[in-house]
Amino acid sequence: MGRITLDKVAKRFGEVEVIPPLDLTIEEGEFVVFVGPSGCGKSTLLRLIAGLEDVSGGQIRIDGKDATETPPAKRGLAMVFQSYALYPHMSVRKNIAFPLKMAGMPEDEQKRRIDNAAKVLNLTDYIDRRPGQLSGGQRQRVAIGRAIVREPAAFLFDEPLSNLDAALRVGMRLEITELHARLKTTMIYVTHDQVEAMTMADKIVVLRAGHIEQVGSPLELYRTPRNLFVAGFIGSPK
Ligand code: ADP
Ligand code: MG
Repeated sequence: MGRITLDKVAKRFGEVEVIPPLDLTIEEGEFVVFVGPSGCGKSTLLRLIAGLEDVSGGQIRIDGKDATETPPAKRGLAMVFQSYALYPHMSVRKNIAFPLKMAGMPEDEQKRRIDNAAKVLNLTDYIDRRPGQLSGGQRQRVAIGRAIVREPAAFLFDEPLSNLDAALRVGMRLEITELHARLKTTMIYVTHDQVEAMTMADKIVVLRAGHIEQVGSPLELYRTPRNLFVAGFIGSPK
């Protein structure tokens, strides 16, 4: 579960081709980071995978099946946003339960999944609080909890830590990496932060103006950057 293939996927907004046709394979269980400067198309690419934007061309396959036309809720993926998007009037438990309730899941299965997510994310102590009574890091955990309970084939993160202060960011980075080690679910993580990319990724996809400059492990990109753009971005001494 969680193998995602992009075959000549492209996106234009009006006249502007933001993503020229692009091929990419994300393997089952991989932690893939899309990195590149602001405006290079990272969010757009993630939103195409999530189905929040329609492709202008090409095909997206999830676990072998053509998902190009599949609506977001049916792709089996869960997106975590930087803005958390929590409901302020609901408790942590209700926030996490919300997508399950909407899907009409039986109460006992909802409870099993929520208790499990709360344990994995250390949310148990504040499960009855509202978002306003939580720190930034705790809120981000709730947002991740809401994704976990859906038991998705892949998690999609769009700069989830950019609203947090530097110290907290380091801690949350570790938490997400640990979560990946525990769940072994495919994760696609968008950031413009080189350190995040180098420390979290199994595979880094370096984007520039909507195209892929290079794909490789952090070590590969560091040792053998294909060009000065990649070298400069990754911080290797080329
Ligand atoms: P990143 O996430 O890497 O900062 P984005 O994917 O948000 O970049 O944006 C890539 C390019 O696409 C930018 O030039 C942006 O202005 C443009 N863009 C993104 N969304 C839209 C939209 N809905 N309509 C028009 N242009 C857009
Ligand atoms: Mg973005």
